[in-house]
Amino acid sequence: MGRRGRCGWRLICFAVEYIEVAEDLLLGGNIMLHIGCHLSSSRGYLAMGREALSMQADTFAFFTRNPRGGRAKEIDAADAAAFCDFAAEHGFVKLVAHAPYTMNPCAAKENLRVFAREMMADDLRRMEYTPDNYYNFHPGSHVGQGAAAGIALITEQLNAVLRPEQSTIVLLETMAGKGTEVGRSFAELRAILDGVELGEKMGVCFDTCHVWDAGYDIVNDLDGVLAEFDHVIGLERLKAVHLNDSLNGCGSHKDRHARIGEGEIGLTALQRVVNHPALRGLPFILETPNDHDGYAREIQLLRS
Ligand SMILES: [Zn+2]
Ligand SMILES: [Zn+2]
Repeated sequence: MGRRGRCGWRLICFAVEYIEVAEDLLLGGNIMLHIGCHLSSSRGYLAMGREALSMQADTFAFFTRNPRGGRAKEIDAADAAAFCDFAAEHGFVKLVAHAPYTMNPCAAKENLRVFAREMMADDLRRMEYTPDNYYNFHPGSHVGQGAAAGIALITEQLNAVLRPEQSTIVLLETMAGKGTEVGRSFAELRAILDGVELGEKMGVCFDTCHVWDAGYDIVNDLDGVLAEFDHVIGLERLKAVHLNDSLNGCGSHKDRHARIGEGEIGLTALQRVVNHPALRGLPFILETPNDHDGYAREIQLLRS
């Protein structure tokens, strides 16, 4: 390329960059960040919406029932409807509900698998009171049956409970690989997704602590990790991010969350996560050990 050609090319690059920066400024830079935290559902949906708004959140997570399992309180339809109006009025993006930890679709005992299936089916029925949101779950622990057997049982459960008419998208959470957890690698999540008939009802939630603990180095090679995710699963399946620091090192398989900037991942790397072009626009959910004020501070920190 001649001197003039190179100069012209540079000018075009500069113009494109300038337009992108101007667009960011117009959109208010970080206003585009959709962020919230895990909230208690004990006072209902509208109360969660109000609490989220008070901490400048525009999304949130909550347990669909007691995280240690058991019966769920019946949903107050009027409260759910009031929340939907509130969320639309204040520009909330999709919520990321969390299934209870006790739900293990790939348990070895049949009664536990039936329990998991009934719980998920009931949760998905209840999610329709607040349509068009995400329902995130831990794929499960194969408890010695082997990952392949676990994956087969998880897809079996999903095929039994997913309905073509549901508006909820079900998300598989990336796991740390503690014990016999399934979903410790992108390949395992892909294998589950491949077995699901209603694939359009499925997506993935990327937990920064879990991915790091599983051995993906998001501190030194975030681009590489996301490229691998894209290659193995496809970035179009990535629907939400759990934003957590980790108490342990990369590949530790521990799953102990830390507050933002107080763990082994660190603030700089987590800021790169929320600003990454491949992730921008997704709901980011904090699951850090915090109270209301602590969460509000972290949201402010990440918005600044
Ligand atoms: Zn989780
Ligand atoms: Zn998580």
